[in-house]
Amino acid sequence: MKKVLKKVSFVILLLQLCIVFGQESAIQKRIVIDVGHGGKNSGAIGVNGIMEKEVVLKIGSEISVLNKMIFKGRYDIYLTRDDDRFIQLSDRSRLAKSLKADLFVSLHCNASANNSRGIEVYTLNYFSKDSELNIKESIALGMEVLDEANLKLKIENRGMKFANFQVLREIIPHCPTLLLETGFLTNEDEGNYFLIPEKIRGMALAIFKGIDNYLKSRL
Ligand SMILES: [Zn+2]
Repeated sequence: MKKVLKKVSFVILLLQLCIVFGQESAIQKRIVIDVGHGGKNSGAIGVNGIMEKEVVLKIGSEISVLNKMIFKGRYDIYLTRDDDRFIQLSDRSRLAKSLKADLFVSLHCNASANNSRGIEVYTLNYFSKDSELNIKESIALGMEVLDEANLKLKIENRGMKFANFQVLREIIPHCPTLLLETGFLTNEDEGNYFLIPEKIRGMALAIFKGIDNYLKSRL
């Protein structure tokens, strides 16, 4: 009798686990964080030789760590690269589509010949039947990220912008898609800002919170 009870309670435990994991996977959103540039493509080079490919890798890795360590795996997060390697833009889009991403956020840093500063966020610059809804959602997502960076980190908000970048064009028919220019590496303050690990964590947290605010507003 004792043995039977043990078996029954083991089956019940298994069922409960299935329910918990089933619910988790049903509601967990899949986010592709696209870590820009890499390998032979360093991206922008700023003050003190700071390289865009290194800054965005640090921010992307930190987003992944925050998700696991602080937010207990709230989202299913994929990075398009987690080391210093070159990846074609078309492969980044292909990954997002094959993973059936719910959101795609591409990380970049800016450069300019003058002393520009601040964060700006891009989504696609033309509406079509396939893209209209996801462009509207991308704007809502972008506003949340800009607010977090501006209000919490005091980084100048350069606003939502629109462009025909390849990853935006290829992925937006599938899910809300942003390209973030997180700051200007050519600006002395912002270039030096990204040399400090706590500031990298702050930027990662602002992006994560922006995404989290957006997704919660859509529940
Ligand atoms: Zn870039």
